[in-house]
Amino acid sequence: MTPTSQKQRIAIIGGGVSGLSAAYYLEDAADVEVTLYERDDRLGGHAVTLDAKTPDGKPYAVDPVVYLFLPERYPYFTEWLSQLGVATRPLEFDSYLWDGHFGHGTHLTANFKKILRTQCKSVRYFRNLYYMLQIVRTIKKLDREGKLHARMTMGEFIAQVPSIDARFVDEVFYPLLHLAFHASQDEMPNLPVSSFLPTWASAADGTSTFYVVDGGVRNYVETVRKSLVATKVKTGADVVALSHTSEGWQVTDAKGQCESYDQVILAIWPNQVAEILKRGLEQNTAIRPHLEATVDTLAKVELAHCRAVLHNDAGLMPPDRNAWPTYAYKNIPYLKTGLSTIWSGQLDQAEVFTSFDWSMDMADLTDARTATQPRGPIHGVHLHSRTPPRQALYDARAYVQAKQGEHGLWFTGSYLRETCFHEDGLAASLEVLKRLRPDHATLGRLGKLLGKIPTPWRE
Ligand SMILES: Cc1cc2nc3c(=O)[nH]c(=O)nc-3n(C[C@H](O)[C@H](O)[C@H](O)COP(=O)(O)OP(=O)(O)OC[C@H]3O[C@@H](n4cnc5c(N)ncnc54)[C@H](O)[C@@H]3O)c2cc1C
Repeated sequence: MTPTSQKQRIAIIGGGVSGLSAAYYLEDAADVEVTLYERDDRLGGHAVTLDAKTPDGKPYAVDPVVYLFLPERYPYFTEWLSQLGVATRPLEFDSYLWDGHFGHGTHLTANFKKILRTQCKSVRYFRNLYYMLQIVRTIKKLDREGKLHARMTMGEFIAQVPSIDARFVDEVFYPLLHLAFHASQDEMPNLPVSSFLPTWASAADGTSTFYVVDGGVRNYVETVRKSLVATKVKTGADVVALSHTSEGWQVTDAKGQCESYDQVILAIWPNQVAEILKRGLEQNTAIRPHLEATVDTLAKVELAHCRAVLHNDAGLMPPDRNAWPTYAYKNIPYLKTGLSTIWSGQLDQAEVFTSFDWSMDMADLTDARTATQPRGPIHGVHLHSRTPPRQALYDARAYVQAKQGEHGLWFTGSYLRETCFHEDGLAASLEVLKRLRPDHATLGRLGKLLGKIPTPWRE
């Protein structure tokens, strides 16, 4: 066994999927001492499962946002779950836009069945179905030809869809994309299409099946937690400053405890990185210009915030139960963005739903005049954040790519990859570990994973 004094000390800051996976795959390295800092009392970050109740009062564990993954596009996450022995189950995902009476679906196979039962006489529906198919075909064609690159804007993409109707795009397609892009409709034409569209297209035409973690994502978080034997896990440890001295990196938490490390892996969002580096700037002498540039670049990345409210109000779903989708988007003319509701209990046909409000300003989300107010008891509220695909985010990704590992500072997080999903956080961490550990091929679980899927998935 390597003596403690010779071990390299590594701090991982952030206990979401990115930080947890980094810790999990460093467990087999005997020559390191890893400390994981998480400011909440629980691990998982955005991976959260809440305890709701069905209308008849039965307890019901549910992921409020229905964490979905497509195995063919999520090879690392799929393999990780299998290494952990965590079960998954398929979920028929469909989304549905409705105005109180009339609906449009996007998962073509699922919705087709539903629509036949509910709206088979509607010419408007079949016309929209045709446009949806045209969009899916164009996405697949451009993807096959390698032309669907991240910088193509949504407007440029739409211009390539044959005989598309502008009204359909504004009234159906863009509102349905709202959940994924968290952007207003005015912004939509200028957003990059990203790798999200191919994923969406595979799901929309029913050629791929989405999966969810059986029993909720907390199952995988708890399994990882139990497997962290060598890692020192500190929950309730809010890192407030990170500074660089001749001793290495000093990590200071809100309780005033300060420890030194040789390497730091930042598994938190760009604005949080900027905040803690800024607070430690005074002590960072030799590398101050490098850190100032990092703070400057990452602080510009904006976050969109969302408030997810867990409830049993079926009134926020389409009136006909036969038409209930996984994701219902109700267009309300006086609300800027409409109203998104996920059928969180779909797998068990339980009447448990989550409604979302999105805003760039956290203050809006607590404003009773604008926030979604479901009828009946609320079982839980969870706040999430995401990085809308704007220029500052692309600049930050390029910066991190160029500076990764300099002076022992590493960056991971789902924001570093195109779709900002679990797979992205995991793949970003694997890229860090591949570079941080030249011996990765011989590192037990990491070696096995990278031996099976060598190149972390890229957009
Ligand atoms: C509405 C919505 C729907 C989504 N749907 C899906 C989906 O269907 N499929 C999918 O795969 N993904 C989905 N995602 C995305 C996915 O949840 C996230 O991308 C992923 O969980 C983020 O992981 P992360 O580790 O990068 O960040 P996080 O999970 O945010 O982890 C960061 C952690 O760092 C901690 N932290 C922050 N600052 C500090 C500090 N100073 N000191 C110590 N700790 C700190 C935080 O408390 C947190 O635990 C969705 C996200 C949203 C918002």
